[in-house]
Amino acid sequence: MEIQQDIDLAPYNSFGISQQAAYFADVRQVADLQQALAFAQQQQLPMQVLGAGSNTLFTRDFPGLIVQMNCKGIERLPGTDSVKAACGENWHDLVKYCLNNNLYGIENLALIPGTVGAAPIQNIGAYGVELAQLFLQLEAWDSRSGELHCMTKSACQFGYRDSLFKQAAGQHLIVLSLTLQLSQEYVPRIDYHGLKQAFGGAEPGPRQVFDKVCEIRRGKLPDPGILGNAGSFFKNPVIAVSQYQALQQQYPDLPAYDTEEAASVKLPAAWLLEQIGAKGRRRGGAAVHAEHALVLVNTGSASGEDILLLAQELSDAVLQTFGISLQTEVRIV
Ligand SMILES: Cc1cc2nc3c(=O)[nH]c(=O)nc-3n(C[C@H](O)[C@H](O)[C@H](O)COP(=O)(O)OP(=O)(O)OC[C@H]3O[C@@H](n4cnc5c(N)ncnc54)[C@H](O)[C@@H]3O)c2cc1C
Repeated sequence: MEIQQDIDLAPYNSFGISQQAAYFADVRQVADLQQALAFAQQQQLPMQVLGAGSNTLFTRDFPGLIVQMNCKGIERLPGTDSVKAACGENWHDLVKYCLNNNLYGIENLALIPGTVGAAPIQNIGAYGVELAQLFLQLEAWDSRSGELHCMTKSACQFGYRDSLFKQAAGQHLIVLSLTLQLSQEYVPRIDYHGLKQAFGGAEPGPRQVFDKVCEIRRGKLPDPGILGNAGSFFKNPVIAVSQYQALQQQYPDLPAYDTEEAASVKLPAAWLLEQIGAKGRRRGGAAVHAEHALVLVNTGSASGEDILLLAQELSDAVLQTFGISLQTEVRIV
C-alpha cells in the first residue's frame, strides 16, 4: 500500500468540506493497517480512522495520517443466521444482503450512510431499531498492542449513539469486522411514529418495511451528494423527569420519549432548535436546513469552521433558553 501525501479530504466527508490531510492510507487488509500504524508511529504523526466520512466534520487541515478502512467481504456464517461483514463494506449494501438472504431484523436501518466499521462506533439507529439489538460480536485491531480482539456486546458498552469506541478507553480500537445476529423469522418493528402511520394499520412484510424506510428517508433528508450534510448534527438530549416536568410548566407542548430508565426522558433536539428559530439560520456557507432544524448543511462554500460556529451558536441558544446542553452526534476533527 502506498501512503499518499497532501490529500484533499472533500471527497472523503459527506459535508464536502475541503481540508488537506498530510498523509492518507487506503487500508484494504490487516497488513495495510499494520503498515499505516507503523508509519504514524515512526513519523510521530497523529492518526484519525475514517470510514465514509458521513459522521465527520473536518474543521482544519489534518497534520497527520488519515486511515480509511476499506476492507471488503460479506458472508453468512455456515449453518447460522449470522452475517459477518468487513469494516469497509457499505452499510446499506449489508442491509440489502441480509434481506436478499431472507435474514431479518435489520430492515429499519436501511439507507443509513457510511461503512459497516463505523456502525458500532455510535451504535447507529433509526426507526426504532439500534445496531446493538442485532449485534453478535466484532473484531477490532488494538493499535497500541498490535493484537486482534474479539469483542462481545457487553464489552462494546453500547448506549444511545454511544459505545466504548467513543470513550478515551476505546479509541485505540479499530473495527475490522462486524457480525450480526439476524433471524429467518420476521417480526415487524413499526411502532416508531411515522412508520406505523405509513402502513395505516396493515402488517407489512420485511421488503415493504425496507422500501418504506428508504422512501421516508429519501423524502425527508437532504442527499449529501447534492447538499453536504451529516444527518442529525446533535443527539437528542436525555434529561431527568423532574427537569422535564419543570420545563413543561413553561412549555406545555414540549414533547418527550421514554428511555430505558424510568427517571429520565429523551427530548427531540429538533423541537428545541425549532423553538429558538434555528431553521434557515446561516453562518458563512453553513446553514440550518430549511425543513430540518437538526441538519446543518454546506450550501456550497462552507468551511468546517463555519459549520462548527453555527453549531455552537445553536447549542448556546438552546442552553440559554431551556438550560439544556446539546451534544454533537457528529465527530469533530
Ligand atoms: C444523510 C445522513 C443521514 C444519517 N442518518 C443516520 C441515522 O438515521 N442514524 C444514525 O445512527 N446515523 C445516521 N447518520 C450518521 C452516519 O450515517 C453514521 O454515523 C455512520 O455510521 C457513519 O459511517 P461512516 O463510515 O461514514 O463514518 P465516519 O464519518 O467515517 O466515521 C465516524 C466515526 O467512526 C470512526 N470509525 C469509522 N470507521 C471505523 C473503524 N473501522 N474502526 C474504528 N473507528 C471507526 C471514525 O474515526 C469516526 O470517529 C446519517 C448521516 C447522513 C449523512
